[in-house]
Amino acid sequence: MTAPRANAGIMKLTPYVGGEAKLAGVNRIIKLSSNEGAFGPPPGATAAAARAATEMHRYPDGDCNALRQALGSRFSLDPKQIVCGAGSDELLALLIHAYAAPGDEIIMSEYGFVMYEIGGTAVGAKVIKVPERNMTADVDAILAAVSPKTRMVLIANPNNPTGSILPQSEMERLHQGLPPDVLLLIDAAYCEYVDRPDFDPGTKLVDAGDNVIMTRTFSKIFGMGGMRLGWCYGPPGVIDVLNRARGPFNVSLLAQEAGVAALAEEHWVEVGRAHNATQRARLVGALEALSIKVWPSEGNFVLADFATPELAAAADAALRRRGIIVRAMRAYNLPHCLRITVGTAEECDLVAEALADRAP
Ligand SMILES: *Cc1c(COP(=O)(O)O)cnc(C)c1O
Repeated sequence: MTAPRANAGIMKLTPYVGGEAKLAGVNRIIKLSSNEGAFGPPPGATAAAARAATEMHRYPDGDCNALRQALGSRFSLDPKQIVCGAGSDELLALLIHAYAAPGDEIIMSEYGFVMYEIGGTAVGAKVIKVPERNMTADVDAILAAVSPKTRMVLIANPNNPTGSILPQSEMERLHQGLPPDVLLLIDAAYCEYVDRPDFDPGTKLVDAGDNVIMTRTFSKIFGMGGMRLGWCYGPPGVIDVLNRARGPFNVSLLAQEAGVAALAEEHWVEVGRAHNATQRARLVGALEALSIKVWPSEGNFVLADFATPELAAAADAALRRRGIIVRAMRAYNLPHCLRITVGTAEECDLVAEALADRAP
């Protein structure tokens, strides 16, 4: 009579819905819904994955030694303070599972990444969403929301989907205002796109204390979302917890080999960042010329604000007629907005052309 019953937090979840990839009746799809990078994967990574495929009967190195060494030398970090994961999503979920439990609270900002809410709900924690100012996380309001029940503060910098960033001074103020037993998670999925002197991806704050962890991904500027590879850098105590919590072979052989090769691909990040800066500025200019409001973005996407859900739906329909898929923002309570990934120059042009044709 009684079926197996999952934990209460799991039953409260609405599963994460990724960016759409198909449109009925359209041959050439332009997928600008998941911020996957404009150039596909690094060729060296593709070749390394193909080579590794012939060895896929072997279990991978459970400690990702070669990859952690490569990350350490590339970013001047101690490999002992790095843990790799099947996407940074895995690491986010593991951290929330390890540090938050029913009755605890975790804090995110109003338009923070939805995976934080999903992870917190799954473990039965209370997820507190702190209102933003001007589509940017509000440090004072976050600090005011901290209670004795707070276990974690999760913040993406730059943030998805708004594109906003907090300068290092604000991140420092946030860190300084937190009790030392609250874990500050800095999700730096888009940090490679930022080119500002007042920005740090999170390494400085990790080094400054025992309660900060930075997560990174190969899914965005490295163009390897399908491979599922992420990593994090943290203090020894948190790294120890993650190494207990993770599966023994959580990163596949192909992902490890492809990751090492991607880091060795010359100029990949620099070219990606420069392309993004140029094309993002062109895309923003084209949309503003069509009287569309665009929130300032430091990522490889822009949040276009059409003022009403109806106007956003009309814009989405105009894009879909031309085979262009962008991200609707209802899940973020921003139904009047669309998030558009910065693609190739041609793709940016096609977005602007399609939006010029939208119903008034
Ligand atoms: C894309 C994204 C991630 C990365 O997810 P992976 O699991 O590494 O593919 C993490 N955080 C944010 C804010 C993102 O937009």
